[in-house]
Amino acid sequence: MEIIEKNRRGILYYQFERFNELNFIDHLFTSRIGWNNGNIPDKLSEILNMPKSNQVNLKQVHGTNIILVDSNDDFKELSKIEGDGLITNIPNIILSTNHADCVPIYFVDQIKKVVGVAHGGWRGTYENISGKMIDKMKEVYGSESGDILVGIGPSIGPCCYEVGKDLGEQFKERYPRFSNILMEKDDKTFLDLWEVNYLQVKDRGVREENIVVSKACTSCNVDKFHSYRREKGTKERLVAAIGLKNNA
Ligand SMILES: [Zn+2]
Repeated sequence: MEIIEKNRRGILYYQFERFNELNFIDHLFTSRIGWNNGNIPDKLSEILNMPKSNQVNLKQVHGTNIILVDSNDDFKELSKIEGDGLITNIPNIILSTNHADCVPIYFVDQIKKVVGVAHGGWRGTYENISGKMIDKMKEVYGSESGDILVGIGPSIGPCCYEVGKDLGEQFKERYPRFSNILMEKDDKTFLDLWEVNYLQVKDRGVREENIVVSKACTSCNVDKFHSYRREKGTKERLVAAIGLKNNA
């Protein structure tokens, strides 16, 4: 795993070490230990040291709608909007997405000080939400690909993510230049959502050394994470969160 596990008074969470080297952001990925759907906003606020009232969480619909968060926004109202990606350049706002196997993708422009997070299940990944996040950062905030850091967080891995043959074919057709995104084993097809998202941002000019893949599978590590597949459905969610600190 390319992420570090932290334990704060019985609350387990994960961070990218690479992201922790930046002093102007804070971020985390929750676990099933110490967290539940009810206490997430309070705990996020406490650990990230940002106000609970400044948390934005969209109505996720497995699409590629990306919402830009401004300081004048009513965060409660924003949270009613359908979308799967969030970006801001305003400090003290917690951008968050919910997950239970789907891929959390974190973005940081190290120079312009812009952060983002996206939710990519197979649909969002197929529609290239990661590439669209990079496009938006460039278009709206003047980000340059070379300055952007991307983190691909815990989610269902290629070890466990069996898909139908048809879906495998669709990915091959859509991304003919992407190799190693599908694996065949015992006549079954497995899709590597981590690799697709990795290649999508690389394709947009993000440097290989600036892409961190956690390689943590939620299904393999169901003792630490919730996994919709492994648990045959769960209402509990894992949350990916990122924000700019006040000093940004
Ligand atoms: Zn696995």
